[in-house]
Amino acid sequence: MQFIGTRGSDGVTPEKMWFSEAILSPSAGFGGIYVPQKLPDFGLAFLEKHMNSHYKELALDVLKSFEIDIDDEVLHAALDRYDAFDDPANPVPLVKIEEDCFVMELYHGPTRAFKDMALQPFGYILSKKAQERNENYLIMAATSGDTGPATLETFKDQANIQVTCLYPDGGTSDVQRLQMVTEEAENLKVIGVHGNFDDTQNTLKHLLASEDFKTELEKRNIKLSAANSVNFGRIIFQIIYHIHAYLELLRKGEIILGEPIYLVVPSGNFGNVLGGYYAKKAGLPVEKLLVASNINNILTDLIQKGEYDMASRELIKTESPAMDILKSSNVERVLFDKFGAKRTKELMDSLNSTGKYTLTAKETASIQEDFAATYATDEECEAYIAKYAKAGYIMDPHTATCMKAYEVLTDQNRKAVVYSTAEWTKFSTTVARALGNRDVQNDTEALKWIVENTSEKVPPMIEALFTKEIKHSDVVYEAGIKNEILKFLS
Ligand SMILES: *Cc1c(COP(=O)(O)O)cnc(C)c1O
Repeated sequence: MQFIGTRGSDGVTPEKMWFSEAILSPSAGFGGIYVPQKLPDFGLAFLEKHMNSHYKELALDVLKSFEIDIDDEVLHAALDRYDAFDDPANPVPLVKIEEDCFVMELYHGPTRAFKDMALQPFGYILSKKAQERNENYLIMAATSGDTGPATLETFKDQANIQVTCLYPDGGTSDVQRLQMVTEEAENLKVIGVHGNFDDTQNTLKHLLASEDFKTELEKRNIKLSAANSVNFGRIIFQIIYHIHAYLELLRKGEIILGEPIYLVVPSGNFGNVLGGYYAKKAGLPVEKLLVASNINNILTDLIQKGEYDMASRELIKTESPAMDILKSSNVERVLFDKFGAKRTKELMDSLNSTGKYTLTAKETASIQEDFAATYATDEECEAYIAKYAKAGYIMDPHTATCMKAYEVLTDQNRKAVVYSTAEWTKFSTTVARALGNRDVQNDTEALKWIVENTSEKVPPMIEALFTKEIKHSDVVYEAGIKNEILKFLS
């Protein structure tokens, strides 16, 4: 199967691409992104076939249904990365927290956030492809917290790939920062930037647009790629666990085959919920995709009113920082799927020039056939964390946004799966406060206090961070970044 651009053909970028090309060069014509030309069938027959499949068997079949140009051997090895998760027999456990509500925990990998689900196998495949083609790639990440650690972890010591990772100094949790600055490998460079996440991202954008920088890379025979969620190579791995969640409910006897369920997804860049959308379109029985946001509720407005308006908003920092996003890149793939390339280009052009777009009433209704949305404030999230902790279940603040969506958007006859995107250990300061300790000052204190006052444990990879040697101590101003990176590349 081939992949096509969401904004149509500009006559410069190839109109269609094989999977491997689309993941190495993820930018399509007119600034669009790649989508599969058609979707496989993940309907009832597919589900029945996988009633007893292990996660990796299901994953292999999903990947092969897209007819991607990656050898079986490479796919097998990529999926073997899930063997390093807490429980190789079931890398993504499903936990019942209400009669009709289940949490699928997507954070049992090396960096304790759901980014590992896609980045772990994706990193292996990208490096293999680069080796096959005898090409060297630079991956440049700017992170507000979870993408950075997961990107570094997947590419560390992988041949033909180098990674630079920029993070806002003081703008991440202690655990997230330590996960990056203690990472040790020749092919990784982590740089702190004075400023906030927006500054960090802008720095990266300027660099990527600079001719001078491009020339420097060409001189060194290095190509640029990207590992953010505009890369379809990440999205494809985010379809699998939605199907797995449905199968798990079947296996536990909670639903019967064909019964629709809700999928409740804490959303930022819309990659996670997009995976659910593709699964639904391919035949998975889903009643609705419920999009949960924090106070940066631009997605709530889009889905409720058909309005996407960045121009009249400012980004607000919240306790769920991975969802502090205004430009949600993967919405574009849904627009393309529903309204085609011409309309998608029109809407995206409007977003670029005016900072907003408005859907017609008919288009909005079409979005609402698949999605419903709401948002939760930090106070509401803390209350949900406290409520479920009392019942013995500790969740992180991103997951907590889903509990509002579950409460107000589901009807009782249908089961709901809530996706937990981070372990509480990554946001322990917020969790400790929600549990009543308003005095904790940092993650070290918070982790200790929570372990002493609940039955929770801190996993070894988080525990180890606090005694590991710091390998990357550079914190620089924007002007100094290019030099730091070029120094690293030579
Ligand atoms: C990245 C992330 C999200 C947002 O996921 P999207 O796919 O970008 O919508 C939510 N929660 C956590 C903890 C994350 O790391």
